[in-house]
Amino acid sequence: MRPGDAGSRESLPRHVHTLIVGAGFGGIGMAATLLRDDPGADVLVVERGDDVGGTWRENTYPGAACDVPSALYSFSFAPESEWTRAHGTRAEIYAYLQRVAREQRVTERTMFGCQLRDAQWDGERARWVVSTSRGDLTADVLVAATGALSTPALPKVAGLEVFSGTMFHSAEWDHNHNLTGARVAVIGTGASAIQFVPEIVGKVDHLTLFQRTASWVMPKRDHGIASPVRSLYRRFPFVQKAVRGAVYGQKEMYVVGMTKPLARKYALPLFEKRARSFLRKQVPDPELRNRLTPDFAITCKRILLSNEWFPAITRSNVEVVSSALTSVTENGVVDADGNEYPVDTIIFGTGFTPSEPPVAQHVRGEHGRTLAEVWNGSPSAHLGISVNGFPNLFLMYGPNTNLGHSSIVYMLESQAAYIAAALRVMRTRRLDAVEVRADAQRRFAEELDPMLAGTVWNTGGCSSWYLDRTGRNSVMWPTFTWHYRTRTKEFDAENYDLRAANTGARG
Ligand code: NAP
Repeated sequence: MRPGDAGSRESLPRHVHTLIVGAGFGGIGMAATLLRDDPGADVLVVERGDDVGGTWRENTYPGAACDVPSALYSFSFAPESEWTRAHGTRAEIYAYLQRVAREQRVTERTMFGCQLRDAQWDGERARWVVSTSRGDLTADVLVAATGALSTPALPKVAGLEVFSGTMFHSAEWDHNHNLTGARVAVIGTGASAIQFVPEIVGKVDHLTLFQRTASWVMPKRDHGIASPVRSLYRRFPFVQKAVRGAVYGQKEMYVVGMTKPLARKYALPLFEKRARSFLRKQVPDPELRNRLTPDFAITCKRILLSNEWFPAITRSNVEVVSSALTSVTENGVVDADGNEYPVDTIIFGTGFTPSEPPVAQHVRGEHGRTLAEVWNGSPSAHLGISVNGFPNLFLMYGPNTNLGHSSIVYMLESQAAYIAAALRVMRTRRLDAVEVRADAQRRFAEELDPMLAGTVWNTGGCSSWYLDRTGRNSVMWPTFTWHYRTRTKEFDAENYDLRAANTGARG
């Protein structure tokens, strides 16, 4: 029996105090934090999938693993002594999340197969009126923990509907499709493609790889964690805690090179030198090496970590096409020069839509406008969490909280602590609504924008999903994660309009 089956919610209540949408790292962390504060907390999680795990449930592609060390990629309140590798595999991380959700009693508060359809703020009654695929309910507080990388993006090219073969996105891997002997086109060379291509290249007859932009690739320092080390962690948790602290400290240093111009000037060329020498060692052919060499500053896009990528794509059955996919025909794929490549399978490693999260289209604030309409392609939120016009709504992994250097779990824990603190303030001051003030939200954006302006993400000469369609960086957190932790430690009620329960009075 899967943990998701064990005692999960079977019916929706008519009303709940805190409704959390999504049971991935964010939603589990949020619910666990509230339940640790108050085991009787009135919390419901709705999850569209059939189990907890979020991206680690969804992404089943071969080779799925984490490029952040396991030492950091876990909740501080739920250490895992049994990681078998320095970088967790998808299977281990998924099992970890199932365990934590079960032990922290989140699974039993979760309704699976329940998709948010619409949430509308009702100012009169100070609550969210929510419609889901399994019925309607109201909630005092809504937490959107729907993840930034959950909705697959397909390239907008002509002909997708006429292709006669099989095609799928890396996040929706078709395990029924036999790749043995297939002629496959892989579109994209991002963090997902570099994990699944080495796994399938030995099976397929021929692989045509569309590389629109060459990526910086560095060796992945992965290794097994020996059983005596695991037993040491089990018996003396403080040892694992110390290792976690050391890895955290080391990772934090990287952000300096990405964000501070002087450090960037000296540090990034060293990284580039290391990456070029790795490329030289792994790719003997100078012409191909030239095509695999990026033309932008390292870390402008996420650095890819892999020891198997270059050996995989230099195999004799692989053709690297240095071009975008521009169209699809009945029997093949076409590059920007009009060359057609016959294939029977297309795998899209083309990423997600983090700056246009689908949940934003379904959440309507006080004025009846959706988050997507208010954001208009350029998301912004106070601390990445609260949006003016959307009382009692809290976002997890919201705008400007992504990282290029450390673990997102650290950010999610900071957000969960902040939201829990907000709910405590609401309880103790008997408030029925809190809404971030427009000036506070604006000040936060005005603080971040100049910090982002000098970073490698904005000026490193690449185009990436960190920049939204207006050209603003609405994705990255531009400094140390401990700054974020400090900012989110307490609920800053002075930046919010507070509405007292029963009176409707604002203060
Ligand atoms: P991604 O990084 O957004 O990469 C998408 C790829 O598709 C890029 O190479 C892009 O090219 C290419 N592409 C898009 N349209 C194309 C077209 N028409 N023709 C040719 N190429 C096209 O997506 P991803 O690899 O799925 O990774 C997304 C994020 O997921 C990562 O940044 C990371 O945060 C996360 N992730 C994490 C891990 C982990 O280990 N923690 C693993 C996988 C993913 P351009 O570069 O030219 O845009």
